[in-house]
Parts: sequence; structure tokens; C-alpha cells
Amino acid sequence: MKNIVIIGSGCAGWTAAIYAARANLKPLVMTGGQPGGLLTTTSTVENYPGFPDGIDGTALMMRMQQQAERFGAQIEYGTTITKVDFQSRPFKLWADEELIETRAVIIAVGASHRHLGLASEEQLERKGVTYCATCDGALPVFRNQPLVVVGGGDSACEEAHYLTHFASKVYLVHRRNELRASKIMADRVIHHDKIEMVWDTVIQDILDVPQDKVTGVLLRNVKTNAVRELPCAGVFVAIGHVPSTKVFAGQIEMDDDGYVICRQGAQTSVSGVFAAGDCVDHVYRQAITAAGSGCAAGIDAERWLAANP
Ligand code: NAP
Repeated sequence: MKNIVIIGSGCAGWTAAIYAARANLKPLVMTGGQPGGLLTTTSTVENYPGFPDGIDGTALMMRMQQQAERFGAQIEYGTTITKVDFQSRPFKLWADEELIETRAVIIAVGASHRHLGLASEEQLERKGVTYCATCDGALPVFRNQPLVVVGGGDSACEEAHYLTHFASKVYLVHRRNELRASKIMADRVIHHDKIEMVWDTVIQDILDVPQDKVTGVLLRNVKTNAVRELPCAGVFVAIGHVPSTKVFAGQIEMDDDGYVICRQGAQTSVSGVFAAGDCVDHVYRQAITAAGSGCAAGIDAERWLAANP
């Protein structure tokens, strides 16, 4: 029987693990399929306090992990929880056939990339359609080629800027005529000589003719409805995220978008089950706010376990 299982290993999960481990609870961290979470797919994190020169996202996650391990956190790498039963204590978690019983749970599963919802997008994933410039941008297939980035937030701007290192040209396609991104990120792309802004435009389809890989996109201007073809070798989708909470459906209260609802601090609708990070927060979604909420979840869980051994 575990005292506490932390599901997820992003900023929230590792911070919760540091606090729970320092409380001598010997937490078990189930890392999920992507240890370190989404931050490992970003490049330099420039806004995490304490790193005036920025820090690589993966390096930041590894430091948090080492800190949690130093205080006695146990780690199960690559394991994804496939089923849960929070109806009674001990809480039950399954990773395929493996059953884990625990007194308390912290859900810190984060979020995954939102898709455009086009059939061609799914067909051409890993054949030119990707959700991570840092992971895939340097692939030979994208070098010295025109590339398309979709989205208007910080992620899209970051991806577009990063891709200028490899692409012959980057088109940033956004459905409105104003970026959602922070001003510093927006300015970086709008004034970049390798980036062309394509405003008021959505991707109607992704083309693969005559080859079985991305050869272009069909763009539709949402104001004029004019459709045009734009040749490109890659489509980088950066249109936000959806919380990775499907496995908890019916077990804890969530909103219509799948974000976990916390009432008092990190407490979910089930006493003894806590949540933190991007699976709770659709407003700030920053590394530092995820870490802060992971800290709150660790402290709340420790106090709850003391009162409910
Ligand atoms: P986001 O801020 O939610 O932006 C998503 C963008 O995609 C929006 O511009 C949205 O358009 C567009 N979009 C959404 N659904 C779409 C669809 N179906 N088709 C076309 N466009 C669609 O997401 P994000 O950029 O991933 O950023 C998430 C959070 O992480 C933010 O808080 C951001 O500040 C943070 N972040 C920070 C950094 C950094 O500081 N280094 C880097 C990356 C992300 P509308 O604008 O029209 O809604």
C-alpha cells in the first residue's frame, strides 16, 4: 500500500513529489508516457524565476526529478494509468494489469496538444504534420523548405521562431488578425524577415499529392472565404492543449472541457484525491504556476493524510 501516488511528471508532479517526499511520505511518481511532460518539448524556458539566462525545458524537469529523488520519491518510468477507482479507500489505480493501492492521489497529468480535427491531419501525422518544432524541426525533410505553423499563441510564435533556423520560409497562419501571444513573442515573429504572417486564415485541408507526405495546405480566408493552395513540406500545429484527464471521467468532477475542478486548494470532488497543474488550470498554464499548484497539492495531501491516516 502506498501513502500517495502522484500521476504525472511535469512541473506540478515533480513539485508535489518534492513536498510529499520531504514530508517522509515516500510518494510514488507514475511518470506517464512522456516523463517530464510537455515542457520537455519546448526549447529554452525564459520565464521560470531563478534562471536569468533561461533554462532548457528538459534540463529543468531533470533537476526537479533529482530534487524529488533526493528526498526519497520513488519513480515508475513510462507507466500510464489506464483505469482508476476512487469510490472507496484505499484508492485503486491500474497500469494495464498492475494494481496499485494508495491512501491518497495527486493528479498532475497535464495536457496534450490540441488537434485541428482534419482527417488529413491524422493521416499525415509524422509524415509532415507535427505538434513539436523542438522535437522535429531539425529533421532533414524540413530543412530549407517552406513550413507552415498554425496558431496565434505563445506556442505558435515560439515554434515559428525556432523553425526559422531550418526552414527556407515560415508561414504563421492564424484565424484572427491579432496574435494572442505575449507582446515580446509576437514582436519576435511579426518583425522576422523569414516569417510571413497569414492573418484571418484557417487550414481547410493538408495536401499530400503526389507523395504520401505533406506537400502543401489549402488555406481559407475566413473574411473573404477565398481558398488558395500554399506549398509546404511541414505543418506545425500549435493551437493549444486539452487536459489529459479522460481516464478520470466519472470518478471526479471535471468541467465540460475536461479540466479537473478543485474546490478547496488542490482538493478534488473526492476527499483524498488532489489535482494540480495544467489539468486544472486553463488560465495561466505556466511552468511556475504548475509548480506552485503542485506545491499546494503536496501540502494539502500531507495535511489530509495526517488527519485521515
Ligand atoms: P493558447 O494561448 O491557448 O493559444 C492557442 C492559439 O491557437 C490561439 O491563438 C487560438 O486562436 C488558436 N486556436 C485554437 N484552436 C484553434 C483551431 N481549432 N484552429 C485554429 N486556431 C486555433 O495556447 P499556447 O500558445 O499553447 O499557450 C498556452 C499557454 O502556455 C499560454 O499561457 C502561454 O502564455 C504559455 N506559453 C508560454 C511560453 C513562454 O513563455 N515561453 C511558450 C509557450 C506557451 P485565438 O487566439 O483566436 O483563440
